Amino acid sequence: MSNFDLSKILRPHILTLAPYSSARDEYTGQVGVFLDANENPFGSASTGNFNRYPDPHQAGIKALLAPLKHISTDRIFLGNGSDEPIDLLTRISCTPGKDRVIILPPTYGMYEVSASIHDVYIDKVSLTPDFHLDADAILHAVTPDTKIVWICSPNNPTANTMDRACIQRILENFVGLVVVDEAYIDFTDEPSWIAELDRYPNLVVLQTFSKAWGLAGIRIGMCFASAELVRILNKVKPPYNISLPAQQLLLEALHAVDKKDQMVADILTERATLDTMLRALPLVVKVYPSDANFLLVQFEDARAVMDYLIKETIIVRDRSRVHLCDGCLRITVGTSEENKVLIASLKKFQEKNVTV
Ligand SMILES: *Cc1c(COP(=O)(O)O)cnc(C)c1O
Repeated sequence: MSNFDLSKILRPHILTLAPYSSARDEYTGQVGVFLDANENPFGSASTGNFNRYPDPHQAGIKALLAPLKHISTDRIFLGNGSDEPIDLLTRISCTPGKDRVIILPPTYGMYEVSASIHDVYIDKVSLTPDFHLDADAILHAVTPDTKIVWICSPNNPTANTMDRACIQRILENFVGLVVVDEAYIDFTDEPSWIAELDRYPNLVVLQTFSKAWGLAGIRIGMCFASAELVRILNKVKPPYNISLPAQQLLLEALHAVDKKDQMVADILTERATLDTMLRALPLVVKVYPSDANFLLVQFEDARAVMDYLIKETIIVRDRSRVHLCDGCLRITVGTSEENKVLIASLKKFQEKNVTV
């Protein structure tokens, strides 16, 4: 989309918005007597020192993240989980009660929730029965008020990666934001769309620290986009959206990429083992191929399996009533021990059902 004009996609008042200027924006030196932000000079009531406001621009984190993702720091936005960029992208582009987004079920629920919160219309275009994008139908669903197409790849809950040529067609023919949510990118061999940001000014890529990095509890999501769009997101976000302890822990993690890589490798090994063990069970109808850290598994009687597992205090995600996912449970890949407990329970369920 070479003639893409971001200012035509954004809500007019967002373009002219004057952002909040924080105390830490006005003086950025590291040392000094800081009497500018009404902080407590003595320290914190907790252990540790959290009495100072955190860096609103997360410069230290972005300096480490940029080389890791092969992108410049001005194209990185960090949010309070991916939830925050999902919310902000909806908010900066869609006028409530007028504009529309396209979502592609079955997919991650937050795109729809965010649109609904903002009173934005949702057009749903189903994936094909084998969980792929229907580019013709998606482009056909576009109206002059459509601002965002949400694509999840690898997709939750179907676990597959979306065809690159289809995404490319949407990028080239839709004059609006094409968001590719890559929450599960670390678990696939497919390349990230980050490398295509230079080619497509309407492309936005989401990633997260919640899955591969094991940091779901500190809530940090990544958004990669044009420098122009990142500037707008920074203008609209709450100034201190990433807390100081979250920034400190993330910096620590970014110095331990090897540990993340090892955990991903272990999850991939466990995914293959779990897949094999599930396939061997007669009550399993189908295990879908996975590019993620979970398996979508079809059972003969998913509800009964789910209820039995809950009694055994094993919690999986019921997707059996989700569009195109009839009879399916979504099972996160656990540790070797956890996966064995799951398989043992499923075997027990099977035996019980044969004897009654
Ligand atoms: C888990 C997940 C996320 C991560 O959300 P956070 O708010 O960053 O924890 C984002 N998108 C999809 C599709 C997911 O499954």
